[in-house]
Amino acid sequence: MHEMSIVQALIEQVEGEIERAGQTGRVTRLELAIGTLSGVHADSIRFAFELMSPGTVVEQAELVITHPAAHLTCRQCGAAPEIPELIMACPACGSTDITIAGGTDLLLQTIELEDS
Ligand SMILES: [Zn+2]
Repeated sequence: MHEMSIVQALIEQVEGEIERAGQTGRVTRLELAIGTLSGVHADSIRFAFELMSPGTVVEQAELVITHPAAHLTCRQCGAAPEIPELIMACPACGSTDITIAGGTDLLLQTIELEDS
């Protein structure tokens, strides 16, 4: 299961960040950005997180997941809509001269620690 390895990497990243910051407190909140085009399912991430967090530094953490949207920019007509899924042509004019930005990220955005 793909999401398991993602959560494993996430927990390791959190542990690394805390160690580097010289912190010892418990993690109370994690904010994770899962782009709408990343192909990662938030439900599966939550499920994997519940399975894997016990015994780790994120055991008590609340997991908050956000979904940044992707934007298409059309070089032909200048349209710049948000897109819910990956598309190959501009929805306004049909041109394939487009760029797509954002939406594919899987990013740990925030780590909150309890006061120690
Ligand atoms: Zn266009």
